[in-house]
Amino acid sequence: MQQDCIFCNIVSGKISSAIVHQDDQCIAIRDINPQAPTHILVLPKDHIPTLNDLTPQQVPVISHLAQVAIGLAHKEGIASKGYRVAINCGEEGGQAVAHLHLHLIGGRNLSGSLG
Ligand code: 5GP
Ligand code: ZN
Repeated sequence: MQQDCIFCNIVSGKISSAIVHQDDQCIAIRDINPQAPTHILVLPKDHIPTLNDLTPQQVPVISHLAQVAIGLAHKEGIASKGYRVAINCGEEGGQAVAHLHLHLIGGRNLSGSLG
């Protein structure tokens, strides 16, 4: 846990958020500034700053986040029409919060929009 990290503080419950899923490895919350009707962030409980910081041992975390995102896509009713899963990495990748997270975005047509 990193004291000054927004997402670590959400994981610990110090900062409140709309939690849609929680398990031993990750938490999923509704984005505070949604870009589509469904915009959920799936984040590992461990503080991993960016995709670049993943150790080989931590790579399975990504599979778990993806699995949770797929389950949530079904739960949100967007699985059949389609959705976007994205991980921003670093400054030019558009990452604003330095705690690894996966965006699950859907519920509108995202064709042609990338960002
Ligand atoms: P990034 O740009 O780092 O990939 O995405 C960060 C996301 O976190 C943004 O979509 C932003 O709206 C969301 N976000 C930032 N602060 C908070 C917060 O305190 N609570 C929630 N639920 N989402 C946040
Ligand atoms: Zn963190």
